Amino acid sequence: MDPRGFPTSLPEFQETFPDDDACAKYLEKMRWPDGFICPKCQHREEPHRFLTRTSVVLRCRKCKVNTSLTAGTVMRGSHTPLSTWFWGAYLVTTQTPGQSALQFQRQLGLSRYETAFQILHKLRAGMVRPVREMLGGEYPVEVDETFIGGVHNKTIVVGAVEVRLRKDAEDRAAKHRQQHSGGVPLKKLVYAGRLRLRVVSGRSANELVSFVNDSVDSGSVVRTDDAKGYKSLPGYYYIHEPLKIAGDPQKAEAHLPMIHLVFSNLKTWILGTHHGAIASYHLQAYLNEYVFRFNRRFYPMTAFNSVLGLAARAQSPTYESLYSGQWQHPLERAA
Ligand SMILES: [Zn+2]
Repeated sequence: MDPRGFPTSLPEFQETFPDDDACAKYLEKMRWPDGFICPKCQHREEPHRFLTRTSVVLRCRKCKVNTSLTAGTVMRGSHTPLSTWFWGAYLVTTQTPGQSALQFQRQLGLSRYETAFQILHKLRAGMVRPVREMLGGEYPVEVDETFIGGVHNKTIVVGAVEVRLRKDAEDRAAKHRQQHSGGVPLKKLVYAGRLRLRVVSGRSANELVSFVNDSVDSGSVVRTDDAKGYKSLPGYYYIHEPLKIAGDPQKAEAHLPMIHLVFSNLKTWILGTHHGAIASYHLQAYLNEYVFRFNRRFYPMTAFNSVLGLAARAQSPTYESLYSGQWQHPLERAA
C-alpha cells in the first residue's frame, strides 16, 4: 500500500475493490464522509439503498427523494458495472504509457469494443482538461522548446518545468563532499516538479512569452537559452536567467537539464505508444494527458479520483483511514 492508502499493485487493487459493492461504498464515503445527508432536504439518516440499471441509489427516509451515487461523475448513466470503471481508472492512471481502446477492451474483459472506447474516452477527458495552477514561486523554472513528429510534419512544443530540491539534498551533498573531493553533480540533488507543455506555431516572443505568462507565476526565476523570444521576460517581472549556449549541447545540458530530460521522455512515450504518429492537431490533447500523469506521479489516488470525476468531492480521505475510522472531517478537526 501507498502511505496514503492507495493500492499500488493489481492484487492490492483487487483486494481493496473486490466487487461493485466495495466500489459503491467508496463512492458513498467520498461524497458523504460523515454519513449520508439528503441533498434535497438536508435530512441526516441512514438512507434506503437499492440498485437500478445504471447505479446505486440512496433514498432519503424523510422526503423520499432518490440520489444516484454516480451523479456528477463520469460514470453517470452508464450500464457498465462500477468495478469495470474502477479497473479502467486504475489502468489509465497507473500505466505510464497510455493505451489503445483495443488493449483496454482486452484488459477489462469487455465484449464490445465500443464500450471500451467510450469508457477510455470519458476517463481521458479528465486528463486532458488543462490545469490553471501556476508554476514557479519558490522553485526556479526551466523553459525550452523542442520539435515533435516526423520529417514532414514537425511541430514545435514549448515546455516549462519546476526544478525542486530534494529535502535531504544538503545532507547528501555534505556526505558526498566527505567521500569525494569533487563533490556531486547537482542533478542528483534536484528533481522535476510540475510541468506544462504547449504546442506553438513558432518561436516568436509573442508565443513564448504568452506561454510563460500563462504557466509561471511572476517573480519566479525562469531559465532559458538565449533565444530572442525570451528577451522581454524581465519586463513581465520574471527573474530571467538566460544562458548563451551558442549551439553547445553540453552547456545546454548543464543549464536546462530538467526540461531536456522531460522532452527526451516525452519523445520516447510518443514513439512507443503512438509510433510517433500523432497528427499535430491532436498533439495538444496528448501533451495534456502526459502532463496529467507527470504532475500526479507521486499522487496516484488524486489521479484516480480525478479521472472518475470525484475530484470535486474534495477533502478525500484515504481508503485506509476510511475503514479504520481514523479519518476526520476537517471541520470536526478544527472544532
Ligand atoms: Zn430528503
